[in-house]
Amino acid sequence: MNKSIFMVFLSFLLVIPTLGMKSTAFAASTFSDVPSSHRAAKEIYYLAEGGIVQGTSSYQFSPNKSVTRAEAVTMIGRALQLDGTQRPTNFKDVGSSSFASGYIQSAVDKGIVSGYSDGRFLPNKTVTRGEMAIMICRAFDYPFNNSSSGAAQALMSRGIAEGLEDGSFGYSEPMIRADFSVFLARAINPDFRLKANTVKFDQNLTVNVNDLNVRTGPNNAYEKVGSLNKGTAVKGAYSVGAWYYIQAGSIQGFVHGNYLDGKGGSGGATNPTPPPTKPQPPTSNVDPRIKDQVIVIDPGHGGKDPGAVGYGIKEKDVVLATGLKVNELFKKTPFQVKMTRSTDKYVSLSGRVSYAESVKGNTFVSIHANAANGKASGSETYYYAATAKSNPHTADSKLLATKIQNRLVAAWNLTDRKTKPGDFHVLRENSMPAALVELGFIDNKNDNAKLKSDYWQNAAAKAIYYGVLDYYKAKGYKVDSLYSVAK
Ligand SMILES: [Zn+2]
Repeated sequence: MNKSIFMVFLSFLLVIPTLGMKSTAFAASTFSDVPSSHRAAKEIYYLAEGGIVQGTSSYQFSPNKSVTRAEAVTMIGRALQLDGTQRPTNFKDVGSSSFASGYIQSAVDKGIVSGYSDGRFLPNKTVTRGEMAIMICRAFDYPFNNSSSGAAQALMSRGIAEGLEDGSFGYSEPMIRADFSVFLARAINPDFRLKANTVKFDQNLTVNVNDLNVRTGPNNAYEKVGSLNKGTAVKGAYSVGAWYYIQAGSIQGFVHGNYLDGKGGSGGATNPTPPPTKPQPPTSNVDPRIKDQVIVIDPGHGGKDPGAVGYGIKEKDVVLATGLKVNELFKKTPFQVKMTRSTDKYVSLSGRVSYAESVKGNTFVSIHANAANGKASGSETYYYAATAKSNPHTADSKLLATKIQNRLVAAWNLTDRKTKPGDFHVLRENSMPAALVELGFIDNKNDNAKLKSDYWQNAAAKAIYYGVLDYYKAKGYKVDSLYSVAK
């Protein structure tokens, strides 16, 4: 939370030394400009694993570089396994030697994209968010009314995109490679989406070979997650090119359509034994009121505001990484979860409150890291306690803060700086129970090591998740079965 002009200035001088950084989490090549803490790292490496995106050089991905029409069509073409063989096209400005000529022509043939009326394709033109929405809808066969707004709606309803903080979709905003990767990964694999249950497994299919590999993505480069035998009944949701996203018992993933019978209709195939129920988070014995509860996760700072800095890392980055992990946990439950920011962007304090109000938040959790000239250490959680006319939920806010603090101290084993009242804007001005957790001190070497560690961020995310469940439990909600989600 603490910051000063000096800190802000410092953060421009300190460059995170990510070059040469290696992570065993990534099977594919690593890009020096996409560390595991990058907000789009998961999606970029997921696409890179399947060769759907490639670096701009052997070591770099250039996540902030804008996406041209040629590049967008190439990424979509690789995802859909279109014919990318370089060849002559319908367009006077795309010669057969252009790297994208094959994908451009294939995408045009499929109706995913079209050229301009003057016979040009403008391959080097930057793709806007509106154009991206239309391309993805056409590529993945989402019904929409052929307008950008219809396409945006189709993506938002599936948890693939969300509006900007000002409420607009930003149709004419240019797309950068990181964001395009995020949208494409979400379209391909629902595990990346912002909402749970956006996919219906409504096609009855039957496996027609033995030892059919189920993979995490739509081509053979993706990791195998299971194997199916001939005659197995599976449920199909949709296809990505020739590959089908299927569910069979506890297995979900992609298989090649050549090895499935019964395609082209729902419920058409013989299906004598229904697939066993998926042993997922048991939601049937969860309090039915939970699905109406909206949890707002608020990673502090962002964009031009780095927050506190220490040992080469910025508060805005570690709290975002942690917040995204909390979001992932809640997405596995019937709770609704919203984030005031899910990318490295600046959101004002009042913008955070008005966002929480606009999504009708029931519980607000702000995530921060502290700084105090390296002298202090430990975790603490705040709530608003004044008896003023502002946030009236003092008792519930304190309960929420206490539950989170207890879980965090148990998980992180840093000094317990306790739950305490604090007069912070996002606590005071919200009209829902709200807590602000300071995970640790970014300028303390020991705390800093935990803040920047993926392992400890996961532990903190789990602690916050458990803390919120503890809070709901204390309020009389039946949530016991949701603890196993974070196991
Ligand atoms: Zn802060």
